[in-house]
Amino acid sequence: MKLRVEDITEEVKYLAFSEPEEEVNHLLRQGPVCDYQLEGPVAVELSYYRCGTELIFQGALSASALGVCGRCAESYQAVNYREFRFVFAPAPASSSLEADASGEDLELTYYNGDTVDLSPLLREQVILSLPIRPLCEENCRGLCAGCGANLNRETCRCAAPSGDPRLESLRNLTRIRLRS
Ligand SMILES: [Zn+2]
Ligand SMILES: [Zn+2]
Repeated sequence: MKLRVEDITEEVKYLAFSEPEEEVNHLLRQGPVCDYQLEGPVAVELSYYRCGTELIFQGALSASALGVCGRCAESYQAVNYREFRFVFAPAPASSSLEADASGEDLELTYYNGDTVDLSPLLREQVILSLPIRPLCEENCRGLCAGCGANLNRETCRCAAPSGDPRLESLRNLTRIRLRS
């Protein structure tokens, strides 16, 4: 989403739009967080206004992502939501100042010319909205390390067919040791 700088005035305006998901999915495939893919466009709602030379955007986005659970390896769908605030300032004229562009104020982005492009920042926010460790549910019980059963919907098959209780307690001991 690009906006013309001259259209951004001191009067607060609202905007709702959607950002295509392809570019985010492309980034997700390359990046460290490759356990997700977006299922559709990113819905964005924001308000924006000018304060002196700075252009301020604040709003929220939501995106439906398909994740692969880090515990049970099943695919699951989750809607991720994130609030954001961007501040654009005109790029400093001198090149010495430009070296500071990555400076301390993380919210601050410089703009050049007569448009501001929100898309790269929005893509970044979508990726930040995804939990670092994907979980299908907070209390997902994962896979049994022994038999591979999905403990959310199957019972563990490790319990011996013999059903010998002494064996079972031995196994539990091993499992506890493995976990610690
Ligand atoms: Zn899971
Ligand atoms: Zn098992």
